[in-house]
Amino acid sequence: MLIVQKYGGTSVGTLERIENVAKRVAKTKDKGNKVVVVVSAMSGETNKLLEYAHHFSKTPQRRELDMLLSSGERVTAALLSIALNEMGYKAVSMTGRQAGIYTDDAHTVARIDKIDTSSIKKALDEDKIVVVAGFQGITKNGEVSTLGRGGSDLTAVAIAGALKADLCEIYTDVDGVYTTDPRIVPEAKKIDVISYEEMLEFASLGAKVLQSRSVELAKKLNVKLVTRSSFNENPGTLITKEEDIMEKPLVSGIALDKNQARITLRGVKDKPGIAASIFKKLADENINVDMIIQNVGHDGTTNLGFTVPENELERAKQIMEKMHPADHLEYDKNIAKVSVIGVGMKSHSGVASKAFETMAKENINIEMISTSEIKISMIIDESKSEQAVRALHKAYELDK
Ligand code: ADP
Ligand code: ASP
Ligand code: MG
Repeated sequence: MLIVQKYGGTSVGTLERIENVAKRVAKTKDKGNKVVVVVSAMSGETNKLLEYAHHFSKTPQRRELDMLLSSGERVTAALLSIALNEMGYKAVSMTGRQAGIYTDDAHTVARIDKIDTSSIKKALDEDKIVVVAGFQGITKNGEVSTLGRGGSDLTAVAIAGALKADLCEIYTDVDGVYTTDPRIVPEAKKIDVISYEEMLEFASLGAKVLQSRSVELAKKLNVKLVTRSSFNENPGTLITKEEDIMEKPLVSGIALDKNQARITLRGVKDKPGIAASIFKKLADENINVDMIIQNVGHDGTTNLGFTVPENELERAKQIMEKMHPADHLEYDKNIAKVSVIGVGMKSHSGVASKAFETMAKENINIEMISTSEIKISMIIDESKSEQAVRALHKAYELDK
């Protein structure tokens, strides 16, 4: 079999853990498989590098950030390869460029355009274990790019898809995908099988166990995706097509995203084209706007509120202050998004009202709401967000 394995930050967080990963990789190789390994930076490393950059600037050049951040993954790739060679295996480490990962030029949030697998294939044919530095690629102008936070998952899925691998395993520090973050709710249950669609909701609504774009790509390329722990032999969670899943629960889980910030514009002129101009400008700058609320004020103006990822707030702020679309601009980082997810919602009513009742019982104010066929999201005060997750998890009996 051809297997792609990805090891996340905690799994390669110390030299002993890199050694443990080397042993796991060696075992997979010994079974006669071809193995490509994708690694993250050691845990905390990417954040540390970001802090270094912010020591000098609130808004560092994105090209420079990519030069900086891509280094973390190179370190672990080289170390793992050295460890494997020392154990008597032939291994070779590769940067994103050496692995043939071509991206667009949206620095820090680049998209993969294509993968030239020739170097990886050549190394595999020479019976080598290939160790790829995750989270990075190269633009057509030869600039280093990175794929957004959590992007090593995307590297793994993209390589698995390009190589038509038999399996893509994402190794992390929990046993798989749970009904909610097990660090917040210890009673959370592990999910054995989940559809790409639901996993995509989980991921894009904040369950960082898998990066959302990696799930999207796995679905598109039909990659057999499993997430499991690098610290034990438990079977993990299989992510697959909805039709392959027998039992579909009404609600599958609760997600929490604390990386949210809100911008409120008060006194926006009420005329056609205003919203278009604001959101086009943000989109041009690759800032992802999520929830939007508009309401009419009493003096012929409107109030416009919307959320952006917290780590994009500084840039969004600069854009807004330059455009000056409203009399008053307000920024709020202390919000979080709590979401209830389940494909079963498509065919059942009452799911949303239960969420609102639960918030009412907990005396938590809901500031914004958005819904789709398979999810309900609420913006609430960040300090109450974990309480909300626990209450919702219980209300939908996910601990049973
Ligand atoms: P890695 O460094 O291996 O990529 P991440 O920290 O990105 O790992 O993702 C794993 C973490 O995701 C877990 O430690 C857990 O706290 C968190 N998490 C959030 N929601 C969930 C969920 N529904 N199921 C499992 N883990 C979750
Ligand atoms: N090291 C990067 C991050 O922390 C990429 C990853 O871990 O997947 O976001
Ligand atoms: Mg991750």
